Amino acid sequence: MKEIKHYINGEYVGSASGRMFDNINPANGKLIGRVHEAGEAEVDAAVKAARAALKGPWGKMTLDERSAILHRVADGINARFEEFLDAECLDTGKPRSMASHIDIPRGAANFKVFADMVKSVPTESFEMPTPDGTGAINYAVRRPKGVIGVISPWNLPLLLMTWKVGPALACGNTVVVKPSEETPTTTAMLGEVMKEAGVPDGVFNVVQGFGGNSAGAFLTAHPDVDAYTFTGETGTGELIMQAAAKGIRDASLELGGKNAGLVFADCDMDKAIEGTLRSAFANCGQVCLGTERVYVERPIFDEFVARLKQGAEDLVIGPPDNPASNLGPLVSLKQREKVLSYYQKAVDDGATVVTGGGVPDMPEELAGGAWVQPTIWTGLADDSAVVTDEIFGPCCHIRPFDTEEEAIELANSLPYGLASAIWTENTSRAHRVAGQIEAGIIWVNSWFLRDLRTAFGGSKQSGIGREGGVHSLEFYTEMKNICIKL
Ligand code: NAD
Repeated sequence: MKEIKHYINGEYVGSASGRMFDNINPANGKLIGRVHEAGEAEVDAAVKAARAALKGPWGKMTLDERSAILHRVADGINARFEEFLDAECLDTGKPRSMASHIDIPRGAANFKVFADMVKSVPTESFEMPTPDGTGAINYAVRRPKGVIGVISPWNLPLLLMTWKVGPALACGNTVVVKPSEETPTTTAMLGEVMKEAGVPDGVFNVVQGFGGNSAGAFLTAHPDVDAYTFTGETGTGELIMQAAAKGIRDASLELGGKNAGLVFADCDMDKAIEGTLRSAFANCGQVCLGTERVYVERPIFDEFVARLKQGAEDLVIGPPDNPASNLGPLVSLKQREKVLSYYQKAVDDGATVVTGGGVPDMPEELAGGAWVQPTIWTGLADDSAVVTDEIFGPCCHIRPFDTEEEAIELANSLPYGLASAIWTENTSRAHRVAGQIEAGIIWVNSWFLRDLRTAFGGSKQSGIGREGGVHSLEFYTEMKNICIKL
């Protein structure tokens, strides 16, 4: 039986309490292995190791040395690409075709991108006059923030974790990572890669476990963590912010969304359908940036609905190793229960179910998996919970609109503000509408196109702070101003 342990101070260790939980394959409901659950003792050991490493060799390394090691970490992931791919697909059930293009390569690339970026970011300098005429010079330097607590979700486990660990380490911090209890494996494996790459012991630590009253809460309650970076649900973000307030620690929060797609009659319909299909159904709808509300200008509404329906019905539902499959299961039966409760609610609220709405028939060996049908609704009221809550499943509601103003108002009508996609061939309209959407990321005629140098994050209840490019450096470093009187 496979056993997943914590990685603390360069060693894999079990929990002193002996507490463990099951790691389940969501494609068939079978046990993959058992995972040690960290208690306060393991979290404390990990934080102490991270603190010691900060003062030790990692803190004394030059930028070039650190950067070279992080390049080796990326190379190390790529050298074990198939192993990482197997592990990610086993934990999440996602198609190999997706994880081999997105999760693993981008998970590795996060180390190289930030290792290079830290070397080329300038700081500021100001000359100032003084009353005695000699003047003074101010210049800024960046220093690591310290020990960073990283808490990550299950939807893109390696990618979203390294998106934080990459820049945190590049800036000279040390980390204690708490991956999602649903997807513990690739984060655990990264410990081996770190060791092989020459990352000093204690720089990268992993504690496994749940959120509340478990490893996550123990980590956010630990007084010797300097800052937290979190990706997950908005409600969890609120708890983490509360915990971080004690001791005035910084928190970067990448939270939930209920993202709108706006499809104008002057769009290129092929592009809009292709992009909306991906944004609603990729990763079985478990992408924070995904579109769950689609607003379509009335003249093309019927055609759009018919074509999206066809696209959804053409998706191939299947296990990771089926090369044809492009729709895997949800991450767990618990997540399926949540998604199916919204499928039921849509019916109760009077939706027209355009397609899907239930559980697909699967072969016997997959029947225990967390499968759901891709689902499209029309006809719901704007205040139905199906239209206002983040469902995080392969589904969307489509509603017609008549004017640009109405489309913008609908897009901005919820407390979330993560992402939006606009489909139009009219460039003036694209600029005009994009400028008015209340979201951190707005795509025009595309979706999920990410330049890692650009700012990433949510507005309103979708988050606080921006990561990506120099914005990651803002969070993972402390800027100091040094003033020299001449
Ligand atoms: P979640 O909030 O349930 O869990 C995320 C992590 O937080 C897990 O590791 C979990 O164990 C931990 N956690 C839970 N309660 C905690 C507590 N009280 N204290 C400390 N840690 C705690 O989120 P999830 O279900 O794993 O992920 C899906 C959510 O993540 C969705 O809402 C999605 O929109 C969001 N998400 C956002 C982004 C983004 O960049 N904005 C990206 C991906 C996912």
